[in-house]
Amino acid sequence: MENYEKLEKVGEGTYGKVYKAKEKSTGQVVALKKTRLEMDEEGVPPTALREVSLLQMLSQSIYIVRLLKVEHVDKTPKNNNHHPSAAADHPPPPSKPLLYLVFEYLDTDLKKYIDTYRKGPNPRPLPPTLIQSFLFQLCMGVAHCHSHGVLHRDLKPQNLLLDQQKGILKIADLGLGRAFTVPLKSYTHEIVTLWYRAPEVLLGSTHYSTGVDMWSVGCIFAEMARRQALFPGDSEFQQLLNIFKVLGTPTEEQWPGVTSLRDWHVYPRWEPQTLARAVPSLGPEGVDLLSKMLKYNPADRISAKAALDHPYFDTLDKSQY
Ligand code: ADP
Ligand code: MG
Repeated sequence: MENYEKLEKVGEGTYGKVYKAKEKSTGQVVALKKTRLEMDEEGVPPTALREVSLLQMLSQSIYIVRLLKVEHVDKTPKNNNHHPSAAADHPPPPSKPLLYLVFEYLDTDLKKYIDTYRKGPNPRPLPPTLIQSFLFQLCMGVAHCHSHGVLHRDLKPQNLLLDQQKGILKIADLGLGRAFTVPLKSYTHEIVTLWYRAPEVLLGSTHYSTGVDMWSVGCIFAEMARRQALFPGDSEFQQLLNIFKVLGTPTEEQWPGVTSLRDWHVYPRWEPQTLARAVPSLGPEGVDLLSKMLKYNPADRISAKAALDHPYFDTLDKSQY
């Protein structure tokens, strides 16, 4: 790691700090991320290796942040005990190897970017063509992950990196991705950040699939149009109520099996609102695409690949992508 000069901290997320850094030998600016995938003294846990090679494979797409290198580091813990006798009794613990992931550096993320339009000296809507382009790139990246059997499971504006100059969007933070080609087992309950979390996850469904990402994509689409979150809940219960108040309380007809999900309760029966009211700046095609991403029944939700062919993108010059 001596080959990198840390420039500034650019993010602090769930698993540690992300630094903007310069590779001394080449001058290349990169993002350094210490992974949570700590290895034990025996070596690298196979799951860590699997995830890294998955990341390496997926990052071949221009819609996924490029993983440039994986650095292994032996970090020997400092011995703060200056008692000579104690030191003799307790030899220092073995060194703890770590993995550093070296990514291409992008200048901002979608959350910070939306904030510049919302707050800033000159609050204004995001240009509709920009929303269209970002959503297209997001769907390309998600389609790429899903075609390789990988769910992202934590899609949110903070995890979408942008090159502002070039108008490029890339998916980051694939750390929670798991291959689902191998047994579709029950995942842990806590995965997607609340605001972007699909209703089947909130209701404790044990088998879920690509639809969880498409729900998040819908929430992100709406947030670009609104410059604020569509469903900002502060607890799992409030999150569901926020969703139900806009889309109506789901019924067995719409979503067979919903009332049998683990965390289903009897909720007030809200009628669906007109979705266009929640995203007044979106035209009818945009609202139609959004409604297909926010279908209650995950089986009815539009796939990333199908979304690319939706009429909302008819006015986009797809030859550029
Ligand atoms: P975490 O698992 O901690 O959420 P992320 O990979 O999402 O880790 O990184 C946290 C934040 O750091 C991101 O929201 C983003 O602002 C910044 N960041 C991450 N990767 C890069 C990168 N390649 N270039 C620039 N900024 C980055
Ligand atoms: Mg993140």
